[in-house]
Amino acid sequence: MDLPLSKRVQEIAASPTLAITAKAREMKQAGVDVIGLGAGEPDFNTPQNIIDAAVDSMNKGFTKYTATTGIPELKQAIIGKLQQDQDLAYKPNQIFVGTGAKHVLYCAFQAILNPGDEVIVPVPYWVTYPEQIKLAGGVPIFVETGFEADFKITAADFEKAVTSKTRAIVLNSPNNPTGMTYSKAELVAIGKVAEKHGIYVVSDEIYEKLYYGDKKELVSIASLSDALYQLTIVINGVSKAYAMTGWRIGYAAAAEPIIASMGRLADHMTSNPTANAQYGAMEAYNGEQAVPETMYQAFEERMERFYPILESIPGFKPKKPSGAFYFFIDVAEAAQMKGFADVDAFAKSLLDDAFVAVVPGSGFGMPDYIRISYATDPALFEQALNRINDFMKN
Ligand code: PMP
Ligand code: GLU
Repeated sequence: MDLPLSKRVQEIAASPTLAITAKAREMKQAGVDVIGLGAGEPDFNTPQNIIDAAVDSMNKGFTKYTATTGIPELKQAIIGKLQQDQDLAYKPNQIFVGTGAKHVLYCAFQAILNPGDEVIVPVPYWVTYPEQIKLAGGVPIFVETGFEADFKITAADFEKAVTSKTRAIVLNSPNNPTGMTYSKAELVAIGKVAEKHGIYVVSDEIYEKLYYGDKKELVSIASLSDALYQLTIVINGVSKAYAMTGWRIGYAAAAEPIIASMGRLADHMTSNPTANAQYGAMEAYNGEQAVPETMYQAFEERMERFYPILESIPGFKPKKPSGAFYFFIDVAEAAQMKGFADVDAFAKSLLDDAFVAVVPGSGFGMPDYIRISYATDPALFEQALNRINDFMKN
């Protein structure tokens, strides 16, 4: 039977990061000893105080609908966090709490884009941005960066890509998949271009708590001028910072008309994010911060320990990350050494023959690369690197 489907949805790709994670999980369930380095998900448990707060909220009867854009107490906790960490002042009507940062980003693109509007997306990019931009009728404009440029867009690259249709730029720092972080000086220069042309900055700061450098150097572009405060949509959430990926709580902070538009959209889409998860997120921001601190230190230690090993694998050219929990590695030479036509085939063989799941770079717009996540048990991660090394040497 012919089952007609929406053209709009046919034109978007499935998420390769979720697909590889699902595939590794399936293989494991079928008894295959596969090590998954695909998932961008902390291998830590959600801190107990957060779980307790969510359970407690349910016992107290907070099991009903809440305001679409989040409970006032959680908004206050987010406002406090933005003020304290980033010197950003927002009012409650400038905060939108959604079902994970992914949903929040979706609502943001829907709120600011009209058909044909261009959004500048530095390459490599997190897999979801181009698809969400297209779903909002926008056109992703990919701007190449490269290994030597630490995979970061410069103000000059940005300026060159601007047209009369440019509505927004997406910045993600610390970055998925590269682990690179924009310095304050770089953001100042980029911010000037955004200001000059009145371009929105969608600033995805989900890995903010996982920056390995001097915390004083880590700024939000929204804090750099009054105009940038107006133009920036700050995106963040609890998934990575508090090991709460399954809870699905993220937020946006932006100018009131943007937040109001996102709220109207969510009214007809999700209504509120899950009530008890909001109480958990509130505890994440208000409660003690020992676990995120431990997690961050563990990731940095792993990065330092494993980076030299990666560098020593034949044909592997990694770049040392300054944040998040990913290694993004040029493996074009490794794929060639093993006789593969491309890195996608190389990655497939790593899974089928070496039993290590990695995400091919093609999904991030850089097909010579793979991404591996060290938010993985370090003993397993080491074993995975040994498998890859043996695979390369055999
Ligand atoms: N932005 C980036 C760069 C991400 O890597 C992710 C998920 N890994 C998200 C947003 C979405 O996070 P969540 O929906 O879990 O809050
Ligand atoms: N964002 C994470 C990643 O890049 C989780 C998977 C996803 O949501 O795409 O792996």
